[in-house]
Amino acid sequence: MPEAPELSVVIPAMNEQDNVREMYERLVAAVGPVVDGLEIVWVDDGSSDRTWAEIGRLAAEDPRVRGLSFSRNFGHQAAVTAGVDAARGRAVVIIDADLQDPPEVIPEMIARWREGFEVVYGQRVAREGETWFKRLSATAFYRVLRRFAHIEIPLDTGDFRLMGPRALAAYRALPEHNRFVRGLVSWIGFPQAPVRFRRQPRVRGETKYPLSKMVKLAMSGFTSFTFVPLRTASWLGFTAVGFAVLYLVLRAGLAVAGSLSFGSAGLLAAMFFLGGVQLIAIGALGEYIARIFEESVRRPLYLIKEHTDGADYVTPPVRQSTVDS
Ligand code: UDP
Ligand code: MG
Repeated sequence: MPEAPELSVVIPAMNEQDNVREMYERLVAAVGPVVDGLEIVWVDDGSSDRTWAEIGRLAAEDPRVRGLSFSRNFGHQAAVTAGVDAARGRAVVIIDADLQDPPEVIPEMIARWREGFEVVYGQRVAREGETWFKRLSATAFYRVLRRFAHIEIPLDTGDFRLMGPRALAAYRALPEHNRFVRGLVSWIGFPQAPVRFRRQPRVRGETKYPLSKMVKLAMSGFTSFTFVPLRTASWLGFTAVGFAVLYLVLRAGLAVAGSLSFGSAGLLAAMFFLGGVQLIAIGALGEYIARIFEESVRRPLYLIKEHTDGADYVTPPVRQSTVDS
């Protein structure tokens, strides 16, 4: 068994066949010279194109490259987690395959890690070549989450980040199935520092994050880190009750004074309003119950079909959430 490399770079990829080679070349050129041993871990997240073949080709050429492929598409966050589980380096960098996060930023991350920061996250100062909708929704999402979450998630960060050995140990031990990676990495704490960079347009291919996946990720962020939707339901309930009592008192007063009836329009509006509030509240409850269900059945987070290095494990390592003797 060779000694652990200083750095592993984890790259989740779904249908990125045309980006694999360039990613590899730019990585090796930028990071190879500044670390004491480099490992590149590709995770093929159920691609239907030639991504896995390209990864296999690199692995055959260069012993620093390893890859694993999922039995189907399990999603970006599962792919990142699988890569982190498999990585052997002392530190790990997570980076997208599409070159939106420039690999040339990694040496700066390594420098900050060596200064003593356990987590170094890439912070976007600009996003180029992305739709106004994506920029607006991302900006709004991170600001709302920051306002309500129990933890401090830095603004404008993705999963492009470096984790040192202690952060890695902590991250790997986290037991939850539902993994909102950037939130979890903030939650674990340790000294953390940003490295600012300009997010580039995708080099080739198109985004693998349609609106449905964005909404799922956002929900996962919310339900993992804040109970605000549940509390909002309670507060709305209290407010509605308050209004009802006020209204009753008012009506009683008016009846005594012998004037005016409110009419059915007001009644109808109130009914719809309350009905709507109740449905929203039930929906919010449902989101959390779905999470509880997922966590309790404990299905594995991902399944592995194949490894380039001949390893044969299929399910993720057992996570130890509690310290036992
Ligand atoms: N990705 C993945 N599984 C998915 C969706 C995306 O592994 O189900 C990978 C994708 O190949 C890329 C990274 O996750 O390396 C980020 O995805 P993408 O660039 O499509 O997202 P965007 O930058 O548009 O938010
Ligand atoms: Mg991208």
